[in-house]
Amino acid sequence: MEAAQAINPYDVETPVTVQEHPIITPYFTKLLPVTKQDKNPMSLRSRQGVNLKVMGLTAVISWVVWLHPVLAQLQFAPPSFEMNGRMAAPVDVQKLQASVVFDLDAKRASAEAIVTFRMGPDKAMPVFDLRQDVREIELDGQPIEPNLLVSSDPPGLLSTPEVNQSMQVLQVVLEAASEHQLRFKYDLSTPRSIDANGPIWKVSGVEWGSWMSELRPGRFLEQWFPANLIHDQFVFELQLKVITAKEPIAHELVTNGTITKPADGTWAITFPDYFSAFSPLVVLVPMSEIEKSTSEVLLENGQVVELEVFRHKEGARVLPGTGKIDPPELPEIHEATARCLKKFNSSFGPWPHGSKCTLFVHDGFEGMEYDGAFTTSALLLPEELLHSFFARGLKPASQIDSWIDEAFVNYYLKKENIYFHLDHLPNKSDESEAKQFYSQYLTEAGQSPLASQNPWVRVTQPGAYRIGVLFFEQLAAIIGEDELDTTMRELAKEHGIANPITTAELEARLLNIAGSRRDDVQKLFSFTVYADTSGDVKEIFKDVIAKYGLDK
Ligand SMILES: [Zn+2]
Repeated sequence: MEAAQAINPYDVETPVTVQEHPIITPYFTKLLPVTKQDKNPMSLRSRQGVNLKVMGLTAVISWVVWLHPVLAQLQFAPPSFEMNGRMAAPVDVQKLQASVVFDLDAKRASAEAIVTFRMGPDKAMPVFDLRQDVREIELDGQPIEPNLLVSSDPPGLLSTPEVNQSMQVLQVVLEAASEHQLRFKYDLSTPRSIDANGPIWKVSGVEWGSWMSELRPGRFLEQWFPANLIHDQFVFELQLKVITAKEPIAHELVTNGTITKPADGTWAITFPDYFSAFSPLVVLVPMSEIEKSTSEVLLENGQVVELEVFRHKEGARVLPGTGKIDPPELPEIHEATARCLKKFNSSFGPWPHGSKCTLFVHDGFEGMEYDGAFTTSALLLPEELLHSFFARGLKPASQIDSWIDEAFVNYYLKKENIYFHLDHLPNKSDESEAKQFYSQYLTEAGQSPLASQNPWVRVTQPGAYRIGVLFFEQLAAIIGEDELDTTMRELAKEHGIANPITTAELEARLLNIAGSRRDDVQKLFSFTVYADTSGDVKEIFKDVIAKYGLDK
């Protein structure tokens, strides 16, 4: 499973240099400087586009004029880095096309993936990620050795046998701004990512799905297919096929993509061009294990949203003591989802994902958000639904910025006391419980930044769920609860689902509306978000401390 990581990059022979793709004329590439990146960690507060600082004015102008789309797509990409004396640079993925054939008899999933990408301003080796062991690789139609694809930890990250934080570096130097195609063949199996599972083969069929996580590195689309970090948006076309020589077994496909050509056991799915590696939901599951129903919710803005609910009935069980079924029955799920959706609509505006909301409810405790869709336990249903507004509605520009949505969503749900009301759930509105948790969080505040300072970071900082909630509580005390909700609603509206937000932009907006308490907001950001330890925690969180009596 760790085989690809064991390849020693120093054993790889001098890399081949590939000609620039004919689409980009030599005239373009001559204008572009081949330059090393600034190695200093970029300032989060001034982060606008990583490459502009180190490029000359002429080069910047030629970029803006000729290559604006590339620049825009790489705006929030992490910087290039040096590897064995050569530059390695993040690519701009244009399109991903993949197909998987699930052979129920051989219990084998054969995958093929074609990724079309462009290089940025550096002549460099392309960097992306894929957590599968590939059998064959073609670059621009020519077969190349699979061991040219090497796992490498980006600057400042260190993989351990348990936690793999690496990216894939193809040991081939490509011209700046050139366009290329990589084709991979492999068996889809357990990804080289922590707590990941491969396809599950059962008597009843096969179960496989996106199963993403933002708390473990390498658990987005790169688990299954070549993909970029979350700053990059690209078109994704996926074909799935379930085959057997025996009696066919019906499967259901849960997805937030558009199924274009469904046939028995075959699906062609297209995801929109603003999706990134954390957006696509795909769950393939034997039909016998789930049930499905749809309903319509009329929102107060006149919008009608179709709720498409899938319930994992095979995992259902009766909870001891209460006699309740978990996951809850379909009508109860529809009712709870509709209630939450109406509430979120009145607080934060229209449902941002067209006219459909897809959810897959299972037993257990985990949940994960996708664009306009989610997988969830009953407990996490309101949180995952709200993430369609903040996380996959108003999106983080990069992993650095992903603390914003977790912190705000958890703050808001607590403030509004919104939970899926089942008898067995703990009463999270209990103030004595809050006091106990908040005392603990206060001791953690300022110890590690909510916004990681490493642009290659792969996870949301866990502090987002704790200190992040404190952060927004204190912020609400400074600028007002309603004012905070209104600001987040406005930001969501201004950005839409395709233009993500940075930490610096959120800070600037909040400073703008803070009035006489601008200084307090600034200090709150410095201490909590950037972990500038010169602040005094008792002063910075004085309102929260007073509210919950945490000093007593
Ligand atoms: Zn969350």
